[in-house]
Amino acid sequence: MIYADNAATTKLDEDALKAMLPYLTNEYANASQPYTFARKAKKAMKEARETVAKCINAKPNEILFTSGGTESDNWAIKNGFSEEKNEVVTSQIEHHAILNSCSSLERLGNKTIYLPVDKDGVVDILSLKKSMNDRTRLVSIMLANNEIGTIEPIEIYSEMVHKQHILFHTDAVQAIGHIPVDVKQLGVDLLSASSHKFNGPRGVGFLYVKEGTPLEPFINGGAQESHMRAGTENLAGIVGMAVALEKNVAYMAENTSKLKKLEEIILYILNDKKITFVRNGSQYRLPGNLSLSFKGKEGEMLLHRLDIKGICVSTGSACDSQNTQISHVLKAIHLDEQFALGTIRISLGKNNTEDDAKQIAYSLVNILKK
Ligand code: PLP
Repeated sequence: MIYADNAATTKLDEDALKAMLPYLTNEYANASQPYTFARKAKKAMKEARETVAKCINAKPNEILFTSGGTESDNWAIKNGFSEEKNEVVTSQIEHHAILNSCSSLERLGNKTIYLPVDKDGVVDILSLKKSMNDRTRLVSIMLANNEIGTIEPIEIYSEMVHKQHILFHTDAVQAIGHIPVDVKQLGVDLLSASSHKFNGPRGVGFLYVKEGTPLEPFINGGAQESHMRAGTENLAGIVGMAVALEKNVAYMAENTSKLKKLEEIILYILNDKKITFVRNGSQYRLPGNLSLSFKGKEGEMLLHRLDIKGICVSTGSACDSQNTQISHVLKAIHLDEQFALGTIRISLGKNNTEDDAKQIAYSLVNILKK
């Protein structure tokens, strides 16, 4: 099996698993308890928070653990909703965790402005400028797109937004652990992340909240996460996430150059075999992301034929895999329908090899030539 759907989820890192095991077995104490048995759990939580913070140049008290990217996005979008501050600005190419959070608020009277993007998926900056007014509560633009990999110039957006005294959130779920993320440089107030996208366990993530940012509790109950997100913590998950993130950050340069090489192998073979295709996304994109569109083909068909050969890719985002329609992202970049319908996303990860890349490319050539 060749797994090339790392934007959907990644394989759990072995060191992360090792670090998690004690908290799934003998160290089962509740980190909130005052007795000696809970000390190790408490210390592990503290250290994990420090590690995560360090990886994005934040302070430990600015990290709130959540159940993953979807929860972090929901929290950021729904935070501070009121009758006076009832507008959110976002982009047309966000993940459904953002889009559907916005639409659920629309039923309560929130207005959402969906910013258009250019053919590469970069947000139209003039539309952003025009979109804000004194009712705007938040601007949320993703750091990197999950389908086409485009990396947005977040520093530019956050500066513009802050001039209007509006909060800025970025969904960095696809970016964290894969490209350098420095919250100070990005200038964001809120940032979402998800562990399983960077070789950590599922069901855990975090929301970065810049010190001083007004924030309402998201889950009510006990005092966990500074009274902001109640519920006994997923300690093993949190520990595994921190180890995975630290490791991915440490090996980022190495992983990136390897992934670029694998991308080149695939592109070289497709070109060499005279396959006609479009590669989506801007030149600044996530390493390992290949969103390829083949004219007159069906993405679904390609996915299933590759599956028969033991290769896992996707047609768009994992959440859309039931849907054979053109994804909202491909519509937003105005990709020609004949190409859009024949789109697959190959997302390579740190465990892929040159042999994998060759097999993917030659299998694709085979299927496309038949
Ligand atoms: N945001 C983006 C950009 C994503 O790609 C995903 C997952 O695919 C999410 C949010 C949701 O993250 P999670 O699966 O942790 O809920």
